[in-house]
Amino acid sequence: MATCSERFLSYDDICKRPAFDQNYEISPDNFHKLIGKYSFKERHICQVRTNKGICRQKHNNGWLGVSLEGVEALIGCDCAVNYFSAHDDFIREKNRVNDELDRKEALEKMSLLLEKKLETASYIVDLEKTVKEVEGKLSEIYNTFPNDVLSFLYDAQRTNNWDVFVDVQKFKTVKDENGESFPQESWIKSKLGKISAISPSMDLKRLLDNVTDLRKFYNSFATVRPDDLADIKTPKLKKHVKRLGLKDEYAQLIVKYNEEVSAFLKESNMELLIYVCDSNKEQFLTTQALMRLSGLKAAHSTYIDKRLKSIKDKMEKLFGGDYIRKSVR
Ligand SMILES: [Zn+2]
Repeated sequence: MATCSERFLSYDDICKRPAFDQNYEISPDNFHKLIGKYSFKERHICQVRTNKGICRQKHNNGWLGVSLEGVEALIGCDCAVNYFSAHDDFIREKNRVNDELDRKEALEKMSLLLEKKLETASYIVDLEKTVKEVEGKLSEIYNTFPNDVLSFLYDAQRTNNWDVFVDVQKFKTVKDENGESFPQESWIKSKLGKISAISPSMDLKRLLDNVTDLRKFYNSFATVRPDDLADIKTPKLKKHVKRLGLKDEYAQLIVKYNEEVSAFLKESNMELLIYVCDSNKEQFLTTQALMRLSGLKAAHSTYIDKRLKSIKDKMEKLFGGDYIRKSVR
């Protein structure tokens, strides 16, 4: 199949064509064939004449047609639908142009990919390495924190609510019926903070599988020689181009996941998780986990207890030193 159809992105390129006449009127009666398709940033006048008169509507998209006299003119997308959709020659030409452009553009993209064969291969290998690293860090988070924290994370992922609430202990002085004052305890629910969201570990595992598949696919694709491209049918070419285009999508995703994991691993973020725990034991395990995830050994319980106490002191300072506990409200 000859690929002579053109895609025009600028009106100037069309004006430069010797056969183009911007004052010419093209119609279903004098239509001969199509040169190509246009998509301009700005709008230009449609030159279609029908029994309803001359169109002169401005369009961004349409076709460059040739009349039986050999003059080229713009056929706007609306007129193409309204006045040419029953025109056999036009339909045949439209399909031809679309097929040719599809192939031409897929071939161009494939050639470009093959030209940068080594670059692309190492890009995908690096991408896989990065995904493995981030996946490892995320798995470590899930493997290190105890049950209460995991329940909080799973709930938060489900409800998209990452807020941590505490109940603050307050005392006010009240008088009994004999006029004697005594302190009365009350608990006020307050927001302690918001955990930086992390994705389910499954999402990263899936991404890793996808990237690994892409690397394997690329290894076999890279053996294609530029001369072989001519033998590959357009749908397959387009499929390859689309599949290889996924590498950029995956690269964006891993940037997002990496940012998520880094933000989550900040000590000030993980410390909030003390207050999603129901028991002292879970608070202890959570402290141990956050110390380990920060690169500390956290082998000795004295160190862990000390750290837990300092976290609690720090958090209580936020409420003027009042005692706080996981919100039960
Ligand atoms: Zn028109």
